[in-house]
Amino acid sequence: MNWIDIRKEQIKKATSTEYDLLVVGGGATGLGIAVDAASRGLQVLLLESNDYAKGTSSRSTKLVHGGVRYLAQGNIKLVREALKERSILLKNAPHVTKIQSFVVPVYSLWQKFFYGTGLKIYDLMSGQWRIGVTKLLSYNETIDALPWINTKGLVGGIQYFDGQFDDSRLCIDLMKTAELHGAFLLNYARVEKLIKKNQKVVGVEVYDVQLKQTFSCLAKVVVNAAGVFVDHLLQQDTVDQAPMVAPSQGIHIVVDKKYFPGIHALMIPKTDDGRVLFVVPWLDKAVIGTTDTPVQSAQAEPIAFQQEIDFVLQHVSRYSKSPIGKADVLSVFAGLRPLVKSSNAGGPTSLLSRDHTIMVNPSGLITITGGKWTTYRKMAKDAVENVLFVAKLGKKPCVTEDLAIHNKYQDQAYHLLLESDNGSQKLHEDYPYLWADVAYAVLYEQARTIEDVLARRTRFLFLDAVVTNQLIEPVAKKMQLLLEWSEEKLEEEINHMKELVSCYSIQ
Ligand SMILES: Cc1cc2nc3c(=O)[nH]c(=O)nc-3n(C[C@H](O)[C@H](O)[C@H](O)COP(=O)(O)OP(=O)(O)OC[C@H]3O[C@@H](n4cnc5c(N)ncnc54)[C@H](O)[C@@H]3O)c2cc1C
Repeated sequence: MNWIDIRKEQIKKATSTEYDLLVVGGGATGLGIAVDAASRGLQVLLLESNDYAKGTSSRSTKLVHGGVRYLAQGNIKLVREALKERSILLKNAPHVTKIQSFVVPVYSLWQKFFYGTGLKIYDLMSGQWRIGVTKLLSYNETIDALPWINTKGLVGGIQYFDGQFDDSRLCIDLMKTAELHGAFLLNYARVEKLIKKNQKVVGVEVYDVQLKQTFSCLAKVVVNAAGVFVDHLLQQDTVDQAPMVAPSQGIHIVVDKKYFPGIHALMIPKTDDGRVLFVVPWLDKAVIGTTDTPVQSAQAEPIAFQQEIDFVLQHVSRYSKSPIGKADVLSVFAGLRPLVKSSNAGGPTSLLSRDHTIMVNPSGLITITGGKWTTYRKMAKDAVENVLFVAKLGKKPCVTEDLAIHNKYQDQAYHLLLESDNGSQKLHEDYPYLWADVAYAVLYEQARTIEDVLARRTRFLFLDAVVTNQLIEPVAKKMQLLLEWSEEKLEEEINHMKELVSCYSIQ
């Protein structure tokens, strides 16, 4: 079917009725809310201005964690909550999550005692949600676990466990889960304005980024889950509203796994600026990050600063036998933390709370931001409790604690695609992604641009900018067939993607 006809049908559906709930933003927070509300029986519409997970939710460190760092800051409640959510996510989405072993190298007996005690407390705090036992490692055991570690001054290590996941893949699976429970979700639909009646929000005006036209949608409640962009709607709702979010940038570099062989991740508890730095095996590569750089304004495609790249390379090279240089970087990506502003304006953003905040305006607009990927389910639950109250929808229990998240590999449609044409062939010999993944992305997961396929349905762009470049044209041709793109549209999409890839490359 032609992409224009599909789009017109979708807009018809979005505008056909008054929904119980309209969610603005298709990141972890918004998608979690859509899943929660739809599975409680609400009629849900979600609108995403770009693609699902285009924002922060595809740019994380990929950890499902309690947050050792927040423990050091004394935020016991946040850590306990996240440890519980960690185990719920590992249970409900086993196809995109796994338990990951981490090793903290130590360079004095005091460090071993200090970090060992902290990580033991972290372990004990997980109680019934424990996923592994924290252990002190000898010098030899540390080298066995991290054969690449620089041994100068090394005393030993500590091993602990957390979770790891594929962030944008989980977003897409949440989108499908919400859909399976009756929600309607649309990407490339930018919410521009609130519609009000008697000073209450009753809907939104939307700009359709694909067809370049506007339309309106109605709902009993609107939830603003726009990540670092929540202030746009908030300030429209209340004149003189002070900004709620202080965006802080964090970058990651991705390098070949040969530099960090083995199954264990590295955690450096304290960098020069007091942050935690990770080297985590991910999809057969190593992801290294992150930074914490306050930025003045939020961009949809944030770019890593040169100082941030140098900072990560310098720090990781201190711990590795063979230093990592720019030429070794396969991909670099930046994300923006939606940190909720506190009264310590001007202080470092690394000290701002990672807890989430929900705000209900007199107009009925509900805004939710902050938090972590790991706690998205709990955030969604809290937000939907507010929705039920504001819209007077009565009591409807939350069911997401035991709700399995969609897994495309169990979908009959995916298996049919595997058997058709070149479905079971790899896109690139070094990566596991198949042509069936591309077809499934377009036909069942709303992938509409080459970027949607190569960055978030598969993860090529985050893993390897050079290989991504090689795949642009063949993927574009496949999408042209599936969506009946004109030659002009094909060229436009290819050009956009080529330009984007250069942002992920530092060669
Ligand atoms: C560098 C970094 C590392 C991190 N690592 C971890 C980690 O390892 N583990 C962890 O638990 N957490 C981690 N986090 C935190 C986590 O990634 C975020 O808390 C989470 O992704 C935020 O999700 P969100 O949905 O609120 O925001 P986003 O993912 O940014 O989603 C908001 C969405 O709203 C859309 N939008 C904006 N304006 C509009 C509009 N007007 N109309 C329609 N749509 C709109 C945007 O396009 C975007 O897709 C990390 C964060 C960063 C920055």
